[in-house]
Amino acid sequence: MSRSQTPSDAAPKSCRQCSEDLPEAMTRRGLCYECTRVQDFRRPIENHHPFGRYNGAVEAITVEIPGNWHRVLNARANERPPILKRPGDNPLHQIASAVAALGEAVATFADFARRQQWPEWAAKLADRFAAAADSASTWLLVLAGRLDDRLGPEWRRDLDLPLWEI
Ligand SMILES: [Zn+2]
Repeated sequence: MSRSQTPSDAAPKSCRQCSEDLPEAMTRRGLCYECTRVQDFRRPIENHHPFGRYNGAVEAITVEIPGNWHRVLNARANERPPILKRPGDNPLHQIASAVAALGEAVATFADFARRQQWPEWAAKLADRFAAAADSASTWLLVLAGRLDDRLGPEWRRDLDLPLWEI
């Protein structure tokens, strides 16, 4: 093992200030993200955009989230395929994106429930909803593709659908 790979040089696994050990929250400073914010004279809470920022309406929706859990949510959102990050103006893509966000939120609730040692049923229920949301999101993208193929790109106008809003 070279000197640069000794365990003492490895990134710390928990915060030296508060003992937080969420992997997504750890920084190279040996502190969790929230503790780095406090050290920099900022609030540990951040505004989360639960539906992303792909247009002005969804960008306006924010929820205050502790910074460490905000990083967990953002890490999950970053794993989405591009169509679910920036769904454009197709309502089915937008709904699929919102369902994906719902799934990521309940998966994060499951993590939170386990770390808080809540009764296991809470995390298991959240796990089931996360899996259903993931499946539903994928299915909606397939439906959107089939509608485009069968009815052409104008199907949204031709079917006289109501505007979908969050
Ligand atoms: Zn900390």
